[in-house]
Amino acid sequence: MDTIRHWINGALVDSKSGRRGDVFNPATGEVQKQVDLASEPEVDTAVAAAKKALESWQHASLATRTRVLFAYRELVNRHKDEIARMLTLEHGKVLSDAQGEVQRGLEVVEYACGLSDLLKGEISENVSTEVDSYSLRQPVGVVAGITPFNFPAMVPMWMYPIALACGNTFVLKPSERDPSVTAFCAELLQKAGLPDGVFNVVHGDKVAVDRLLGHPDVGAVSFVGSTPIAKYIYENGTKNGKRVQALGGAKNHMVVLPDADMDLAADAAVGAGYGSAGERCMAIAVLVTVGNAADKLLPKIRERIAALKVGNGLDPASQMGPLITRQHMEKVSGYIASGAQEGAELIVDGRTLKVPGHENGFFVGPTLLDRVRPGMTCYQEEIFGPVLSVVRVATYEEAIRLIHEHHYGNGTAIFTNDGGAARKFRHEIQIGMVGINVPIPVPMSYYSFGGWKQSLFGDLHIYGPDGVRFYTRNKVVIERWPDPRFRGVDLGFPQNR
Ligand code: NAD
Repeated sequence: MDTIRHWINGALVDSKSGRRGDVFNPATGEVQKQVDLASEPEVDTAVAAAKKALESWQHASLATRTRVLFAYRELVNRHKDEIARMLTLEHGKVLSDAQGEVQRGLEVVEYACGLSDLLKGEISENVSTEVDSYSLRQPVGVVAGITPFNFPAMVPMWMYPIALACGNTFVLKPSERDPSVTAFCAELLQKAGLPDGVFNVVHGDKVAVDRLLGHPDVGAVSFVGSTPIAKYIYENGTKNGKRVQALGGAKNHMVVLPDADMDLAADAAVGAGYGSAGERCMAIAVLVTVGNAADKLLPKIRERIAALKVGNGLDPASQMGPLITRQHMEKVSGYIASGAQEGAELIVDGRTLKVPGHENGFFVGPTLLDRVRPGMTCYQEEIFGPVLSVVRVATYEEAIRLIHEHHYGNGTAIFTNDGGAARKFRHEIQIGMVGINVPIPVPMSYYSFGGWKQSLFGDLHIYGPDGVRFYTRNKVVIERWPDPRFRGVDLGFPQNR
């Protein structure tokens, strides 16, 4: 059986940790590969390689860095179908969805190709007589990325293209559930001309993560994953003096007003609720129907659910694939059971789904829970599966209150034809990413991505302009060239004249 190995200093390396994890094909339930789980000394080797490579990479010209990223962009684009297939085999998402993931990751690489413009500083002439001042953005140093299973190609691409563009070197600790794609991308970076040691991958679990958080040579950590781990990463990373951005979980609400185009709203709810089997941090998890909207909307959603094809992601007919692991499938099923026990109406139960020929796959079908209320477990917690919960409220104000009282604040959406209501929502909602008749408002690569409240720990969002700020340190220079007029000892605080 194949073993997925670490990529350190430009080569695959054999692990000596003696620890390995299983990598499943979620559609069949079979173990298809194993992945090495790093020990502390192995993490240290990767950080040392990154530290050594930093000596030259941080001084590489902007032209050199741009050329490497451009070449990488071309290589990823050329291999995107191969990458998508790799994602489907280990994550389970359908091929078309996997292709979309690669495309959105690629857009961040394209943004990073503009590094020469992004890294421009500012200059002020004559801040005092014959004194100039300017600012520079310089790399942080060795930076680490820790990423989740649900976007194994795209989420790392939210991080390393920008970090490398800014002159940092990188150690990636990808999810141990679907790690193949990162080694593949590491090889493409090498083919693009990236010097060895600039980008390293260590596979692993808590052992590797804790070592990265404690390593004195790691200057910054970007994390994307669940909220409890994000909080842990933020607290421990910052305690050790590192710059940290830690993006967490979500429970995204979609508000449907009675005047909305109900066909559009039903398409959006089904697409955003069940796409990628609900394993997206921007998935719609809660439908908040206002007034009589539910009566018009739910029959349309049921119709669409009945027509959905769930199956192996490699089958072009499949629209939704399996969940990531058996354990996760059981957890999602547990949330469905708890919803029904706590008084929600289970209108469509995905636990009964059977996929012929894939009896051991980790499948849960699209599930619809109606008359969910805020106190219920299925409402409070992130399910991260194909489960849409409907909360019926009487007024717009009640809908807003629900969203504001929830501890997550990643994304939200409103469906309405009333421009005034949409504007009011956009203005007052306490959420980081907002869609107006758009269910999954993932910002473009030239904006930045991030939630509020328990969905993000740290100050800066990820990729886009915030990404450049996160991966650079600002330096301000004040400069005067020797001039006899300015001789003489002056013990006063410098003043501008
Ligand atoms: P996870 O938190 O379990 O794992 C994320 C990373 O942390 C992995 O690399 C994992 O190996 C590591 N990790 C897990 N447990 C750890 C521990 N105890 N100590 C140290 N490290 C640990 O998340 P996941 O299940 O891989 O991904 C799904 C979660 O990610 C969901 O909550 C989803 O909402 C979230 N997510 C958020 C965003 C966002 O942008 N906000 C994007 C994608 C996914």
